[in-house]
Amino acid sequence: MKRHTGQDRSVTNTWRPATQAVRGGTMRSEWGETSEAIFMTSGYAYDCAADAAARFAGEQQGMTYSRLQNPTVEMLEHRIALLEGAEAARCTASGMAAMTAALLCQLKSGDHVVAARAAFGSCRWLVDTLLPRFGIETTVIDARETALWKESIRPNTRVFFFETPANPTMDIVDLAAVCAIARDAGITTVVDNAFATPALQKPMEFGADVVAYSATKMMDGQGRVLAGAICGTEDFITNTLLPFHRNTGPTLSAFNAWVVLKGLETLDLRIRRQSENALAVGRFLEGRVPTILHPGLPSHPQHELAMRQMSACGPIFAIVLEGGRTQAHGLLDALQLIDISNNIGDSRSLMTHPSSTTHSGVAPEAREEMGVGEGMLRLNIGLEDPQDLIADLDQALSAVGL
Ligand SMILES: *Cc1c(COP(=O)(O)O)cnc(C)c1O
Repeated sequence: MKRHTGQDRSVTNTWRPATQAVRGGTMRSEWGETSEAIFMTSGYAYDCAADAAARFAGEQQGMTYSRLQNPTVEMLEHRIALLEGAEAARCTASGMAAMTAALLCQLKSGDHVVAARAAFGSCRWLVDTLLPRFGIETTVIDARETALWKESIRPNTRVFFFETPANPTMDIVDLAAVCAIARDAGITTVVDNAFATPALQKPMEFGADVVAYSATKMMDGQGRVLAGAICGTEDFITNTLLPFHRNTGPTLSAFNAWVVLKGLETLDLRIRRQSENALAVGRFLEGRVPTILHPGLPSHPQHELAMRQMSACGPIFAIVLEGGRTQAHGLLDALQLIDISNNIGDSRSLMTHPSSTTHSGVAPEAREEMGVGEGMLRLNIGLEDPQDLIADLDQALSAVGL
């Protein structure tokens, strides 16, 4: 066994997170490349027909088809599992493919799901529209109220589904308390950890069963590719997720997997610097806008809980203006440096108006109920000098009378 080829997991699994982020999951080919190879192939050839049969029978190690396995994707899956502290992970073509697969792989008609009402727009669509279409009952609650999780349990409740912090209201869910309620009732928790990533928050340490990602966000971190991931126990990934994943095909491309592998190498550096920048910008905005929803600021009603679960505040927060859509759109249009963009997790600072973009597909009443009003703006703070970002916001706020 050569050094650092990645195949000897008894060695690689002992590495610390910073080492895993750079080297975890690496498998070197016969060429000894230092950077991971991109295996752009849909199929694999066999030395003989018996080998093909043995591989399909699971009697011989090796790959058969890239919907099922690909070396570059497998390197990313192993690296994400190591960073998460999960037994196994499976990647998907996008974050929404991960959320959909994580839910549908384990649910059937007649089951019941309890979900947080504050959630990414498409996650709400899954809960409000897709699951009920297949006879799966859903209840959405104010996820900050821990008691509501327990009160919403029915005999057929199978899954708790939530994000923390939530997009874009920055609601925080008490991971330890909610996961304990689920454990006691034999319910599986599915946590969308896109905002924090394993660099800042590891839901499994608080008792979560399944952690799902949009790797499009902080994991890529430079706004290049779509990707997703689902982490869980070996048993969950192999016996519950894999039959669904292999046969429905929400597979990640090798090229996109490679981009995310490169992104993970700098995830910790980026998210810590972006968190510091977001805190600096947040402190400036605090005296200037009527409301700021920022988990890193003591003014956030769940600041202490957020900081107990996360090792830094992350790059994303929201502000609420009193002049509705007119003032919010006016501020966006006055920006000179920060882009008007609905993406997050990018190294560039971006700002969006959720009610007319990311959450425009959510019913107006549901939007109102989850706290996504017409005056809300969501910010993603990047790696630029925070003084330049503050200067840009300063002039844009002045332009709308603030
Ligand atoms: C972006 C996002 C998703 C969806 O991810 P895609 O990669 O865009 O499909 C899901 N959940 C949260 C919290 C997100 O921010």
